Amino acid sequence: MNIHEYQGKEILRNYGVSVPNGHVAFSVDEAVEAAKKLGTDITVVKAQIHAGGRGKAGGVKVAKNLDDVRTYAEEILGKTLVTHQTGPEGKEVKRLLIEEGCDIQNEYYIGLVLDRATGRVVMMGSEEGGTEIEEVAAQTPEKIFREEIDPVVGLLPFQARRLAFNINIPDELLSKAVKFMLGLYQAYLEKDCSIAEINPLVTTGDGEVMALDAKLNFDDNALYRQKDVMAMRDLEEEDEKEIEASKYDLSYISLDGNIGCMVNGAGLAMSTMDIIKHYGGEPANFLDVGGGATAEKVTEAFKIILSDEHVKGIFVNIFGGIMKCDVIAEGVVEATKQVGLQIPLVVRLEGTNVDLGKQILKESGLNITSADSMADGAQKIVSMVK
Ligand code: ADP
Ligand code: MG
Repeated sequence: MNIHEYQGKEILRNYGVSVPNGHVAFSVDEAVEAAKKLGTDITVVKAQIHAGGRGKAGGVKVAKNLDDVRTYAEEILGKTLVTHQTGPEGKEVKRLLIEEGCDIQNEYYIGLVLDRATGRVVMMGSEEGGTEIEEVAAQTPEKIFREEIDPVVGLLPFQARRLAFNINIPDELLSKAVKFMLGLYQAYLEKDCSIAEINPLVTTGDGEVMALDAKLNFDDNALYRQKDVMAMRDLEEEDEKEIEASKYDLSYISLDGNIGCMVNGAGLAMSTMDIIKHYGGEPANFLDVGGGATAEKVTEAFKIILSDEHVKGIFVNIFGGIMKCDVIAEGVVEATKQVGLQIPLVVRLEGTNVDLGKQILKESGLNITSADSMADGAQKIVSMVK
């Protein structure tokens, strides 16, 4: 799960990580009020969306007075920001962070992520802050430094100091940078983050080390014990179909193509998307209905796929192991009747009770194309949507 920058900063503040003062605003008037409350000479108006790259897209503006704040708030609120992380359709801005302007001396990068190869959390740092870290990694990888963290003892002060030193934080600010990093790691750990990215971390004219931006992502599997984080969820930032799917415990991710996929098992779902692409088609989604899906779950899955207007055909690819093919077939028939399917549907069933399943599909009298293998099914659906 993702949260907004202002929420991430609230969490960090509780861990002793310095962040600028600021307030969230949902309207232009609230933005001006927030700026008055801050009472600083320079105020920054920042779009709050679940995506980075806002600065370049015009979503971060420096205001010199309250009139500027009003002008920028009017300009940014309601605007659809297109950044390298939003995709071409962009994201509409519904909240602003009104923040105290910061006298930036230098911008750095600090990130915490789980390294899946070692199974350990890694703190990464670079003196190339403010820019996209992916670019730094591609062009000047030697400017990224890593500290691998032993889960038993946590981030040790000497590691934080070494990282701060490596990324050229001025000597007199090293101890502040160490405190910053230790606090950030503690927040990452206690809040069950999957990513904590500070880009930029800045040193300021008055000798502070601060987080000017904050991106915190959380491990969904841990949210049950992070009630305060859960309360920060902003459903408006999430894909409606994905929210709906999560209610029924379906793993669903929207994609850009036009072939809806309904599959059981994540591995089979991945290979189904691959084979569709192999035959020249484009999957509209990843959908894993899980091992023990019921007819009801299959129906819901169908509805979700069909609520995507780009979908021009559906490919059901099921291996009946725990799940029996006849149950799936019943679900497919039921769903097809309920939603009044108007587009081609190809079903490939294999495994437990496969003959019974095929028979149910055949006897339903519905316009369902049966496939004998994954390749056969993929070819059929690709040619039908063309
Ligand atoms: P994004 O990463 O989405 O572009 P950031 O929060 O990193 O958004 O802001 C982009 C840039 O705007 C920063 O690199 C920094 O230079 C500037 N900036 C952001 N917040 C402030 C602030 N409070 N005071 C001064 N400059 C800021
Ligand atoms: Mg940033």
